[in-house]
Amino acid sequence: MKNGRCSGCSGTEVFHQAGHHAQSEKITLKTGVLSKGTAPDRYVCGSCGRVELYLVEGEDLELVRQTWNRVAPGS
Ligand SMILES: [Zn+2]
Repeated sequence: MKNGRCSGCSGTEVFHQAGHHAQSEKITLKTGVLSKGTAPDRYVCGSCGRVELYLVEGEDLELVRQTWNRVAPGS
């Protein structure tokens, strides 16, 4: 999606909006007492309606690397 081509239907009418704190789509990065959420960047395909959310490189992605379970390639 980030390259302007839909990863679902291969259409090229893809729209993008940067994450904003007031949007309702949030990703919970960490649960518990010190819970932490973030507002991901959003991409929408104008052909099939597919929606994809992306964390911005940096602090948020680093927290995921440190605390989430990695999926083994090919699993
Ligand atoms: Zn599509």
